[in-house]
Amino acid sequence: MHVSAIPAFADNYLWLIHDEQHAVVVDPGDAAPVLAMLESKNLTLDAILLTHHHADHAGGVAALLEKFFVPVYGPANEKIAGVTDKVDEQVKIHLPELNLELSVIDVPGHTAGHIAYYAAEQQWLFCGDTLFAGGCGRLFEGTAAQMTVSLAKLAALPDATQVYCAHEYTLSNLRFACAAEPDNAQLQARLIVEQDKRAHGIATVPSTIGMEKATNPFLRYKQPTIEQQLRLEGRLKDRQSLAEITADVTVFAALREWKNNFR
Ligand code: ZN
Ligand code: FE
Repeated sequence: MHVSAIPAFADNYLWLIHDEQHAVVVDPGDAAPVLAMLESKNLTLDAILLTHHHADHAGGVAALLEKFFVPVYGPANEKIAGVTDKVDEQVKIHLPELNLELSVIDVPGHTAGHIAYYAAEQQWLFCGDTLFAGGCGRLFEGTAAQMTVSLAKLAALPDATQVYCAHEYTLSNLRFACAAEPDNAQLQARLIVEQDKRAHGIATVPSTIGMEKATNPFLRYKQPTIEQQLRLEGRLKDRQSLAEITADVTVFAALREWKNNFR
């Protein structure tokens, strides 16, 4: 069984899990490149998995359903046209054609009902727009507090877990990460490696949970150096103690806000 990236739009990755015959697609924002890959690899589509309602993730569902009569899994707390099976953390998904077991992780923050799919046996995580390589999703519908809880759940997965996120945002994320944590040597090294990949047209995704824990500021916001950097930037003006700050996610919120305005 493999996971293949299907590039779409400017910087999306749609993920195709497949063996020699069967396939499941994660977040088909566009049907055309999915249909093209299914045809070129001679695969039958058996299910669609959606992480959240945004069009760049769910926009291709209707067109795929015209060709394949398959279940569509989606978040219990979001309304998405075409979804047949609303799932949340209580649910385990079994896809018999691929002999694949997936658990669902509730990860609100980017959207109110965002979910991630985790294959424990393969150590694959499909996390949509929640955790990115070197960054995290914007807070469109959820709060910083929700996002910290969501990211902590993902960070608790095994270090070797492959992180299949939905966008190629890595270089801009890592440039911000270097501003937030300038003394992180592993981060500097990663930036060079990922820049080289992009220069050769290679995807920087999947990442791993271990790499994200070592270099992603949104998993590392409790590091005192990040708090210090936010103060230097004038983004933490009050005089709260660090304990108070980490408890009420002020640092995380300030970090996310800084990234929103970072060029
Ligand atoms: Zn999104
Ligand atoms: Fe997206």
